[in-house]
Amino acid sequence: MNSRKKPHVLITGSEIDDAVARLAADIRHDYPGGGLLLISILKGSFIFTADLIRRINLPLEVHFIQLSSYGERMESSGEIRLVQPLDCPVKGRHVLVVEDIVDTGNTLSFFMANLKKEEPASLKLCSLLDKPSRRVTPVTIDYLGFTIPDRFVVGYGIDWDEKFRYLQDICVLEDRE
Ligand code: 5GP
Ligand code: MG
Repeated sequence: MNSRKKPHVLITGSEIDDAVARLAADIRHDYPGGGLLLISILKGSFIFTADLIRRINLPLEVHFIQLSSYGERMESSGEIRLVQPLDCPVKGRHVLVVEDIVDTGNTLSFFMANLKKEEPASLKLCSLLDKPSRRVTPVTIDYLGFTIPDRFVVGYGIDWDEKFRYLQDICVLEDRE
Protein backbone atom coordinates (compact mmCIF):
# COMPACT_ATOMS: atom_id res chain seq x y z
CA MET A 1 0.00 0.00 0.00
CA ASN A 2 1.40 3.40 -1.08
CA SER A 3 4.63 1.54 -1.66
CA ARG A 4 5.73 3.80 -4.52
CA LYS A 5 5.23 7.11 -2.68
CA LYS A 6 7.17 8.34 0.34
CA PRO A 7 6.30 11.52 2.31
CA HIS A 8 9.09 13.96 3.28
CA VAL A 9 8.38 16.63 5.88
CA LEU A 10 8.14 20.15 4.48
CA ILE A 11 6.33 21.92 7.38
CA THR A 12 6.21 20.34 10.84
CA GLY A 13 3.07 20.02 12.93
CA SER A 14 4.51 22.47 15.41
CA GLU A 15 5.20 25.07 12.68
CA ILE A 16 1.60 24.57 11.53
CA ASP A 17 0.34 25.17 15.10
CA ASP A 18 2.28 28.45 15.26
CA ALA A 19 0.86 29.58 11.91
CA VAL A 20 -2.70 28.68 12.93
CA ALA A 21 -2.28 30.69 16.15
CA ARG A 22 -0.97 33.67 14.17
CA LEU A 23 -3.83 33.52 11.64
CA ALA A 24 -6.44 33.16 14.39
CA ALA A 25 -4.99 36.19 16.21
CA ASP A 26 -5.19 38.26 13.01
CA ILE A 27 -8.79 37.12 12.40
CA ARG A 28 -9.80 37.87 16.01
CA HIS A 29 -8.29 41.33 15.60
CA ASP A 30 -10.22 42.01 12.37
CA TYR A 31 -13.60 40.67 13.57
CA PRO A 32 -13.64 41.64 17.25
CA GLY A 33 -17.29 40.79 17.83
CA GLY A 34 -17.16 37.47 16.02
CA GLY A 35 -20.35 36.62 14.11
CA LEU A 36 -18.38 35.33 11.12
CA LEU A 37 -19.80 32.95 8.55
CA LEU A 38 -16.88 30.67 7.87
CA ILE A 39 -17.07 28.56 4.69
CA SER A 40 -14.65 25.67 4.65
CA ILE A 41 -13.81 23.98 1.34
CA LEU A 42 -13.87 20.20 1.65
CA LYS A 43 -12.16 17.95 1.94
CA GLY A 44 -8.59 19.24 2.25
CA SER A 45 -9.23 22.03 4.73
CA PHE A 46 -11.19 20.09 7.35
CA ILE A 47 -8.34 19.73 9.86
CA PHE A 48 -7.12 23.29 9.28
CA THR A 49 -10.68 24.56 9.83
CA ALA A 50 -11.12 22.54 13.02
CA ASP A 51 -7.87 23.91 14.48
CA LEU A 52 -8.49 27.45 13.26
CA ILE A 53 -12.00 27.89 14.71
CA ARG A 54 -10.88 26.69 18.13
CA ARG A 55 -8.02 29.20 18.07
CA ILE A 56 -10.29 32.02 16.86
CA ASN A 57 -12.47 31.18 19.85
CA LEU A 58 -15.23 33.68 19.04
CA PRO A 59 -18.88 32.92 18.19
CA LEU A 60 -19.05 31.97 14.50
CA GLU A 61 -20.88 29.64 12.09
CA VAL A 62 -19.12 27.00 10.01
CA HIS A 63 -20.46 25.68 6.73
CA PHE A 64 -18.84 23.27 4.31
CA ILE A 65 -18.85 23.06 0.55
CA GLN A 66 -17.17 20.74 -1.89
CA LEU A 67 -15.92 21.93 -5.25
CA SER A 68 -14.79 19.85 -8.16
CA SER A 69 -13.24 20.65 -11.50
CA TYR A 70 -14.18 18.81 -14.67
CA GLY A 71 -11.61 16.80 -16.58
CA GLU A 72 -7.97 16.97 -15.54
CA ARG A 73 -7.49 17.23 -11.80
CA MET A 74 -8.23 20.74 -10.50
CA GLU A 75 -6.41 22.33 -13.40
CA SER A 76 -9.21 23.08 -15.84
CA SER A 77 -9.82 26.77 -16.39
CA GLY A 78 -13.05 27.84 -14.75
CA GLU A 79 -14.96 24.60 -15.33
CA ILE A 80 -15.66 24.12 -11.65
CA ARG A 81 -18.85 22.95 -10.03
CA LEU A 82 -20.23 22.69 -6.51
CA VAL A 83 -20.42 19.03 -5.45
CA GLN A 84 -21.73 19.92 -2.02
CA PRO A 85 -23.67 23.20 -2.35
CA LEU A 86 -23.82 25.93 0.25
CA ASP A 87 -26.93 25.61 2.41
CA CYS A 88 -26.98 29.03 4.08
CA PRO A 89 -27.78 32.62 3.09
CA VAL A 90 -24.71 34.81 2.56
CA LYS A 91 -26.33 38.20 1.97
CA GLY A 92 -25.25 40.77 4.56
CA ARG A 93 -22.91 38.33 6.38
CA HIS A 94 -19.20 38.69 7.09
CA VAL A 95 -17.87 35.70 5.17
CA LEU A 96 -14.46 34.07 5.56
CA VAL A 97 -13.58 31.27 3.12
CA VAL A 98 -11.09 28.70 4.42
CA GLU A 99 -9.02 26.75 1.88
CA ASP A 100 -6.08 24.36 2.09
CA ILE A 101 -4.03 25.38 -0.97
CA VAL A 102 -4.29 28.10 -3.60
CA ASP A 103 -2.52 26.72 -6.65
CA THR A 104 -3.59 27.96 -10.12
CA GLY A 105 -6.26 30.08 -8.40
CA ASN A 106 -8.97 28.81 -10.75
CA THR A 107 -11.06 27.14 -8.02
CA LEU A 108 -11.03 30.06 -5.61
CA SER A 109 -11.52 32.81 -8.17
CA PHE A 110 -14.61 30.96 -9.43
CA PHE A 111 -16.01 30.39 -5.96
CA MET A 112 -15.25 33.89 -4.58
CA ALA A 113 -16.83 35.51 -7.65
CA ASN A 114 -19.97 33.41 -7.13
CA LEU A 115 -20.16 34.29 -3.44
CA LYS A 116 -19.72 37.98 -4.19
CA LYS A 117 -22.90 37.93 -6.31
CA GLU A 118 -24.81 36.99 -3.16
CA GLU A 119 -23.84 40.33 -1.60
CA PRO A 120 -22.04 39.43 1.63
CA ALA A 121 -21.23 42.38 3.94
CA SER A 122 -17.56 41.39 3.52
CA LEU A 123 -15.70 38.52 1.90
CA LYS A 124 -12.18 37.36 2.75
CA LEU A 125 -10.01 34.33 2.12
CA CYS A 126 -7.81 32.38 4.51
CA SER A 127 -5.53 29.75 2.97
CA LEU A 128 -3.07 27.54 4.77
CA LEU A 129 -0.78 27.22 1.74
CA ASP A 130 -0.01 29.22 -1.38
CA LYS A 131 1.88 28.11 -4.49
CA PRO A 132 2.26 31.50 -6.23
CA SER A 133 4.54 30.11 -8.94
CA ARG A 134 1.57 28.14 -10.33
CA ARG A 135 -0.93 31.02 -10.43
CA VAL A 136 -3.06 31.39 -13.57
CA THR A 137 -5.98 33.42 -12.18
CA PRO A 138 -5.27 36.15 -9.60
CA VAL A 139 -6.64 35.55 -6.09
CA THR A 140 -6.26 37.79 -3.05
CA ILE A 141 -5.34 35.77 0.05
CA ASP A 142 -6.17 37.87 3.12
CA TYR A 143 -4.78 35.42 5.68
CA LEU A 144 -1.96 33.08 4.59
CA GLY A 145 -0.14 30.35 6.51
CA PHE A 146 2.81 29.48 4.25
CA THR A 147 4.11 30.12 0.77
CA ILE A 148 5.46 26.86 -0.64
CA PRO A 149 7.34 25.85 -3.80
CA ASP A 150 5.70 24.05 -6.69
CA ARG A 151 5.67 20.60 -5.09
CA PHE A 152 2.77 18.20 -4.51
CA VAL A 153 2.03 18.14 -0.79
CA VAL A 154 -0.04 15.92 1.54
CA GLY A 155 -0.83 15.68 5.24
CA TYR A 156 -2.73 17.75 7.80
CA GLY A 157 -5.97 16.93 5.98
CA ILE A 158 -4.55 17.14 2.45
CA ASP A 159 -4.58 13.92 0.44
CA TRP A 160 -3.13 12.10 -2.50
CA ASP A 161 -5.76 9.69 -3.81
CA GLU A 162 -7.54 9.87 -0.38
CA LYS A 163 -4.33 8.83 1.40
CA PHE A 164 -2.02 10.66 3.84
CA ARG A 165 -4.65 13.03 5.30
CA TYR A 166 -3.81 11.78 8.81
CA LEU A 167 -0.17 12.98 8.78
CA GLN A 168 0.55 15.68 11.37
CA ASP A 169 3.15 17.39 9.18
CA ILE A 170 2.76 18.76 5.68
CA CYS A 171 4.89 16.58 3.47
CA VAL A 172 6.11 16.46 -0.10
CA LEU A 173 5.35 13.18 -1.83
CA GLU A 174 8.30 11.62 -3.55
CA ASP A 175 8.60 8.46 -5.59
CA ARG A 176 10.52 5.71 -3.88
CA GLU A 177 13.58 4.72 -5.86
P1 5GP B 1 -6.45 25.69 -7.94
O1 5GP B 1 -5.95 26.86 -7.14
O2 5GP B 1 -5.39 25.18 -8.89
O3 5GP B 1 -7.74 25.94 -8.64
O4 5GP B 1 -6.80 24.47 -7.02
C1 5GP B 1 -6.38 24.37 -5.75
C2 5GP B 1 -6.78 23.01 -5.26
O5 5GP B 1 -6.01 22.00 -5.94
C3 5GP B 1 -6.45 22.87 -3.80
O6 5GP B 1 -7.49 23.30 -2.99
C4 5GP B 1 -6.19 21.39 -3.69
O7 5GP B 1 -7.44 20.74 -3.54
C5 5GP B 1 -5.60 21.03 -5.04
N1 5GP B 1 -4.13 21.05 -4.93
C6 5GP B 1 -3.28 22.00 -5.38
N2 5GP B 1 -2.01 21.71 -5.05
C7 5GP B 1 -2.06 20.55 -4.36
C8 5GP B 1 -1.06 19.74 -3.71
O8 5GP B 1 0.15 20.02 -3.70
N3 5GP B 1 -1.52 18.63 -3.08
C9 5GP B 1 -2.83 18.27 -3.05
N4 5GP B 1 -3.15 17.16 -2.42
N5 5GP B 1 -3.81 19.02 -3.64
C10 5GP B 1 -3.41 20.14 -4.29
MG1 MG C 1 -8.86 22.45 -1.79
